[in-house]
Amino acid sequence: MDNASAPPQTTSCLVCGATRAEPRFVQRGYPVFRCTGCSLEFVAPIPSASELADYYNRAYTVPLERYAAAGHRNIARIADLERWCPSRGRLLEFGASYGHSLASARERGWDVAGVELSPTASEYARTHFGMPVFNCDLADAPLADGSFDAVIGWHVLEHVRNPKDQLQRLSRLLKPGGVLGLRVPNIESFGARAAGEWWPWMCPPAHLWFFSSATLPRLLRACGFEVLEVKTLRGDGNNLYQYALMAAGSRLNDLRLHLRRGADAPRRADGQGSDRAMMSKVPLPDAQGATASEAIRTVSPAQPSGLLQAWLRLLDRAQPITDALARGTRPLMEPLERRGWGDELLVYARRVTQSQ
Ligand SMILES: [Zn+2]
Repeated sequence: MDNASAPPQTTSCLVCGATRAEPRFVQRGYPVFRCTGCSLEFVAPIPSASELADYYNRAYTVPLERYAAAGHRNIARIADLERWCPSRGRLLEFGASYGHSLASARERGWDVAGVELSPTASEYARTHFGMPVFNCDLADAPLADGSFDAVIGWHVLEHVRNPKDQLQRLSRLLKPGGVLGLRVPNIESFGARAAGEWWPWMCPPAHLWFFSSATLPRLLRACGFEVLEVKTLRGDGNNLYQYALMAAGSRLNDLRLHLRRGADAPRRADGQGSDRAMMSKVPLPDAQGATASEAIRTVSPAQPSGLLQAWLRLLDRAQPITDALARGTRPLMEPLERRGWGDELLVYARRVTQSQ
């Protein structure tokens, strides 16, 4: 919060055009701001393309078996999309990853194609599923305008450097009346409000944009879409119990650092080498169903201290409890999700017939 600087004055809000934003906090070294005009939250400055490529090359490991296990979820998501386009047709997935969603869609009768930035994931989709998944930016994909009946982007838009450019391209790729389905983290969820910078999805530089049920529909309208449906859902692997553990872990660590500061351990000025720096740099759960403790295990760059190890073990041991609580609290959570407090924002929109 204290060392956040103003966002570069040359930039204006992607959604409302306002040029003023208030600093929220610095997460993993990336200042996060909230637009004073529309409350869009974002990282500024946006990291360079090469910095992001470097980050993904280092950190983006997805355990494939989680995808197989999530097969029922992939099918449910496609079935949900079909409420808006029951006649199916041609489907593009923007951020197709390893191709599991598209495989589910193809089984249901869709003619599918995908775009994916990861060479490994797109290669897997092509060789394992035999699907046309292009390994390039959406802007460079060899796809014809007006050629898709539907486009899906599950937890992709918050990762890209310029969501507006991407949405405009998606609008052009759709046939007039074609449907776009997006899933992104909901910055106005109960979890995001309660956990603040410790919200698992507050994880720059993976996530650069933090949308709400107000800001995302507004951006869609500006990009030539009519918004059909906006709702919030729980999201994977996240619930109150998980937040409580995450928050407790961070507070515990803060306390320990505070106590240690005077006594021993000269801290490096940049915070590198402290447990807090390490904890805040590991990717936390994304939409892919990886839990916090799994994500930490996958990419942990160094051996954590005893206290942190204990906390990780606690988080690990808590997973069955977390899962049971997720099931048990469903009747309680559903009304909250209907009120817009769920962690995941789901929006369907239609390309307007007259292009804008
Ligand atoms: Zn704004």
